Amino acid sequence: MPSVAEDAALAVIDMQEDFCPPDGALAVSGGRDIAPVINQLLALPFKLKFATQDYHPKDHCSFASQHPGKEPFTSTHTIRNPEAVGDEAEEQTTILWPDHCIQGTRGCELIPELDTSSLQCIIKKGGDRRVEAYSAFGPPFREPAVGMSDLPNLLKASQIKRVFVCGLAFDYCVKCTAIDAADAGYETFLVEDASKAVDQGEGAIAANKGEMEQHGVKFIRSNAIIKTTIAAAAAASTSTSPPPLRRLCAAAPSSALLPTCAREFLSSTTPGAAIPSAAPPSPAGSLRTSTQGVGPWRVRAAVGAWRGLSSTPLTAARAGRRRLGRPSVAATPGGCFSAAERAETGGADKMAFS
Ligand SMILES: [Zn+2]
Repeated sequence: MPSVAEDAALAVIDMQEDFCPPDGALAVSGGRDIAPVINQLLALPFKLKFATQDYHPKDHCSFASQHPGKEPFTSTHTIRNPEAVGDEAEEQTTILWPDHCIQGTRGCELIPELDTSSLQCIIKKGGDRRVEAYSAFGPPFREPAVGMSDLPNLLKASQIKRVFVCGLAFDYCVKCTAIDAADAGYETFLVEDASKAVDQGEGAIAANKGEMEQHGVKFIRSNAIIKTTIAAAAAASTSTSPPPLRRLCAAAPSSALLPTCAREFLSSTTPGAAIPSAAPPSPAGSLRTSTQGVGPWRVRAAVGAWRGLSSTPLTAARAGRRRLGRPSVAATPGGCFSAAERAETGGADKMAFS
């Protein structure tokens, strides 16, 4: 499999407050917990990285509140293609939901745990009150097409051949996006450990997977993508220079974090490679530059440098990024920082390579 840097897009679907516990109007159990896994994927050098946002007007047709006598989660609604001419028209029968992801509300915002620093764009969907739009490509109506997003053009312009889909929810927007991508001719992968379903029962998961497989969607886990990406970088490298990790980081200047599993994989496949490892703790309040391995590797961990700049880890990390003047990405549990180091940074779990 080629590197994701060559021809692959990462689609991060609907990681929004209203789809996440504890306060989301339509919270998916465990929805917030997949952010660290998605951040690991965002640290890889995908050619195109984008997120989607469910972005409804307050009177959207998918809200049960717009249909007197109907109840969220149990009632359904049949939508006719509003642009169809004549008696024949495509129809979609879909479930009704609580009001959610209304434009301009907190529930519509992407969750702060998601590292948005490397996203190239955010695609808004569901803005047409007349139609439901689970897929990032647009509503299901195609004769004629109604309210399609810019995604088809974006994928073509970026010369994408493979699409990796993750986010919320596995059985609705992630599924419909994956099916549309596969139907459009892209080799499509759903990253299973980076997605959560509304219905997490075994039977429902199996049925939805079966439906997607009928369209050619494949299923993969995040570690497999990470390892394949590192292996592709290593294979493209010579035994002398530049070291494969440097190549990977050069290919992904905004996403140079390498998860623990990636470092282990590289050290096992490329003995002697210069591998940046987790930096040791530094004195509080100092910006430490440590040199690890050989060659030009310098792993700069801004530990404590941004402490006190902000009360929240994310903002603190952003402040640290500005201070460094270099891109950085979030480390994750099992990533570049040990638990002790994360404690030392007050959760501002960021690392920059230079
Ligand atoms: Zn919606």
